[in-house]
Amino acid sequence: MSSIEGMFKALEAGSKHVLIKRFTLFYPEQKLKFVGDGYQFDPKEGVGIAGYRGRHILFHDKCTGCQLCSIMCEGIAEAISMVKIDKEYKQNKKGIMPQIDYGKCVFCGLCVDACPFYALFMTDDYELSAYTKEHLIYTPDQLSIKPNYKGEYVIDINEFGATHKKDIK
Ligand code: SF4
Ligand code: SF4
Repeated sequence: MSSIEGMFKALEAGSKHVLIKRFTLFYPEQKLKFVGDGYQFDPKEGVGIAGYRGRHILFHDKCTGCQLCSIMCEGIAEAISMVKIDKEYKQNKKGIMPQIDYGKCVFCGLCVDACPFYALFMTDDYELSAYTKEHLIYTPDQLSIKPNYKGEYVIDINEFGATHKKDIK
């Protein structure tokens, strides 16, 4: 391809985007609403349920302390350590549950896939910034709290590009 042809190709490719509407969300005043509750995995069916891969949620009444989530993370980010918990649960004889370091986690979701007991899912919460590295470590108690992330702007995609509008439902 000659340089003149290349120039026209580049202009053609660029001009296709001139008519596409752009939009910006004014975060944190405007927050995006995600579809679903976050990424989950159904071990019985062996299928993942699509959703945003944000901060995890840990269900203490389901976690057996089997460590499979932590073993899965070992070769990826070593973000999970199993720690002692204060409360007793009949399904968790060892009294240990995962603690996650979000300074290391890459949000791959493989720990969720590895959990055979529906104890570990992900949520829509991505607001995890902290002033210290220590504050990025979430204990089993912190992981059990349902996040209060509430996005209210939905993305509308059509042939003219994407726009956002407030969800009034
Ligand atoms: S999402 Fe991936 S990196 Fe994060 S804790 Fe789970 S397995 Fe580790
Ligand atoms: S969260 Fe799931 S995989 Fe991890 S220790 Fe608990 S039961 Fe096992």
